[in-house]
Amino acid sequence: MKPILCNYYLTYRCNGKCVFCEIWQHAKYQKTKDANVEQVFQNLVELKKIGIRFIDFTGGEPLLYQELPAVLSTARRLGFFTSVTTNGYFYASLAEPLKGLVDFLHFSLDSMEKTQNDTLRGQPFFERVIENVKIARALNEKPDILFTVTENNYQQIEPLRNYCAANQLILIVNPVFGYGNVASLKPAILKYLDNFRNKPFIYLNRAFQRFRQQGGNQIQQPRCRAMSSTIVISPDNKILAPCFHHAIAEIPIETSIQAILKAKSYLELKSRQGQFPFCQDCVINCYLDPSFTHHFDRYWWLSTFSKAKYVFDKYIRPYFILGERGFEIL
Ligand code: SF4
Ligand code: SF4
Repeated sequence: MKPILCNYYLTYRCNGKCVFCEIWQHAKYQKTKDANVEQVFQNLVELKKIGIRFIDFTGGEPLLYQELPAVLSTARRLGFFTSVTTNGYFYASLAEPLKGLVDFLHFSLDSMEKTQNDTLRGQPFFERVIENVKIARALNEKPDILFTVTENNYQQIEPLRNYCAANQLILIVNPVFGYGNVASLKPAILKYLDNFRNKPFIYLNRAFQRFRQQGGNQIQQPRCRAMSSTIVISPDNKILAPCFHHAIAEIPIETSIQAILKAKSYLELKSRQGQFPFCQDCVINCYLDPSFTHHFDRYWWLSTFSKAKYVFDKYIRPYFILGERGFEIL
């Protein structure tokens, strides 16, 4: 199977200081310039030929990338599904130029308590996000809320879900994964989150929950398909492999992406995806979610079921109410 997703890092700059994120803390990232827009356009054309279907334009804070509307517009014209996750701070001024260009627009919100959210995010984002959701909805966008769960805020799942249900938004539950100085979530917290997985307006990938509860990726029998499913491009126009978080290879895109994907050194790395020492117990969801689509097993089924629930909750449920005789069309 060919890769279907590209995680395209347009900038490493960010106005956030989230406690679970390394990007704003490392000099390496601060020194990297933003993506050259002409190179991005060129890469998009090639990614289309390769068969990529989804592009997650990420960072850093992607809304800090000046050419984001032009890049999204090109991506949409080429037929990609696009996603952007933002801390929301700059959305109000970009809402009009971004209108209709983002298929999956995610606002990060980690608590319905302003102080807790802003402490976790290291910046006063709470009120902006609440305001931005209203702006996005007024423009007929369909934003989601991305809830990064830590051991400090996991009980916020209920108030966040209530907010989402009242506003017909999906709450994407994103349990934090162990990386650098950040510890993974304890099993008891994962179990607590499981209680909410069937509730309306919640997206909690069952495959991912099961995978984490069973210890994550095992290097003897790897389930990770990071390189088979996903291409990662950095702002300085390199392909990162096997994944962003453990990029042991940073390959400059000099001739073409296809040439890199066919190179012996790349194929050798690909044959070891999920088998490196750092892959043991890995639960990095950015790669596991697409990995589940790249092999038929129980994780494929659980993941597909979870995605079907997301589609139902987002696009069908808002047109129904639960009346006395069951569902009624609004
Ligand atoms: S907003 Fe995103 S990129 Fe910025 S510090 Fe927070 S998690 Fe990291
Ligand atoms: S198992 Fe984790 S660390 Fe290893 S390649 Fe996959 S995503 Fe990267």
